[in-house]
Amino acid sequence: MKTYLNFVNGQPVGSEQTFESRNPATGEVLGRAPISTAAQVKSAIAAARAAQPAWAARPDAERKALMMKLAEAIKQNAPYLAEWVTREQGKPLGGLGPDQVPGARFELWGCEVWTQVPASLDLPVDVVFEDDTRRDEMHRQPFGVVAAIAPWNWPLLIAIWQMIPSIRAGNTVVIKPSEYTTIGTLELVRVIGELLPPGVVNTVSGPGEVGSWLAGDSGIDKIMFTGSTSTGKKIAEAAARNMVPTTMELGGNDAAIVLPGADPKAMAMGLFWGAFINMGQTCAAAKRLYVHESLFDQTVAALKELATAMPMGNGMDEGMVMGPIQNRMQYDKVVDLVESAKQAGATIVCGGKPKDGPGNFYPLTLVTGLEDGARLVDEEQFGPVLPIIKYSNVDDAVASANRLRAGLGASVWSTDIEAARAVASRIQAGTVWINQHGMIHPMVPFGGIKGSGYGVEFGVDGLKAVTQPQVISLKK
Ligand code: NAD
Repeated sequence: MKTYLNFVNGQPVGSEQTFESRNPATGEVLGRAPISTAAQVKSAIAAARAAQPAWAARPDAERKALMMKLAEAIKQNAPYLAEWVTREQGKPLGGLGPDQVPGARFELWGCEVWTQVPASLDLPVDVVFEDDTRRDEMHRQPFGVVAAIAPWNWPLLIAIWQMIPSIRAGNTVVIKPSEYTTIGTLELVRVIGELLPPGVVNTVSGPGEVGSWLAGDSGIDKIMFTGSTSTGKKIAEAAARNMVPTTMELGGNDAAIVLPGADPKAMAMGLFWGAFINMGQTCAAAKRLYVHESLFDQTVAALKELATAMPMGNGMDEGMVMGPIQNRMQYDKVVDLVESAKQAGATIVCGGKPKDGPGNFYPLTLVTGLEDGARLVDEEQFGPVLPIIKYSNVDDAVASANRLRAGLGASVWSTDIEAARAVASRIQAGTVWINQHGMIHPMVPFGGIKGSGYGVEFGVDGLKAVTQPQVISLKK
């Protein structure tokens, strides 16, 4: 059984203790990864610290050109890395293109694009004030060493979101992947790290405790965290002790609201993928669907038709559309929430029973008959089950969307765009999509509010978020 290694200061680094990575579709052990020690975390931070001044001092054009080489290396290695995503995370390989499954190949394509776009962006100096006596310029400086802590749902893509803007802006990085999806990320960092000066990107690996050593270290200048709200709170506490700024991309419980007058057949596919992309294990997936009573039965029927037609199985088999839930803890959570819905008298429209056999397979499940306050509505399920709630008054649907502490995304569906806009502006969420859901883009800032976190990623604003402002003020 191969043990994969961390990448620190341009060198492979093992550890005395290791842990297994398992395939969620089969239970097969895929390999082993190091459990970094506290001393190894410190030495990764030291390597990043030592490399940072020279990296930041490079001309911007050089860093941009290097980043384009990273994008090319990701493309060249995409078939290999996509297989790691599928075997370790579970999402099917899928393909690219509008009619294809947003699977592991799509994730690798995203890694390439989300590397090219920050490489093409600039942070120009802003002259914020000028008169006869003075000139004041706003410059953006890198923070220094960025600690990145990643989740297991889109393991490579989220690692790229955290690392690439950071290094583009002149920071160096130490990243800790999720313990559920470590090997693919270690391999990705090795691929790009070999093209960069030693110490610019470094990895540590292991359970949450390793992440807490990284986040709590006084040698860190900025934390990029993507994961659950409960872990985010712990990291925010650790960051506060060192007065370190953080970007917090946390859990969501996105509401999708179907307004009266929408077209159920036309929107069904968009709603389906909005909810079930990556088996629902997506931060900004639709997790509660509020449908006007006039369209309720048609919408449920259209979604049922899609949900029952999607092939589910081992994502390495071509043609698979749905894979397993990534880990047992998440699987048990989904089972528990569906059981709680049954006990509350809900109707299971389809799915609702665990599948037999190996692997964490759970069918796509639609649930009706619940109201706000039911656990399946109020808690983030992060899995292949969608509660569909009937409403009769749009004001009530808006109030439902806003009543939770989550505020990542939301969507409004209607053929009347002005009506949809009016509702969208009343919803408390970092992004409100109209007639689409979860459609992130590398040029468009993305981030949560309320319990879903703070700070944005992507686009120029995302690049600014990995820099700190510095005013240069000149007396004339
Ligand atoms: P998690 O919080 O359990 O783990 C995330 C990472 O934090 C892992 O690497 C883990 O090892 C590490 N960690 C755990 N305890 C830690 C501690 N005390 N200190 C430092 N690090 C620690 O989250 P998860 O289950 O991997 O991810 C799923 C969650 O992530 C969902 O809630 C989902 O909505 C959210 N998410 C949000 C976004 C977003 O952009 N807002 C994107 C993807 C996922």
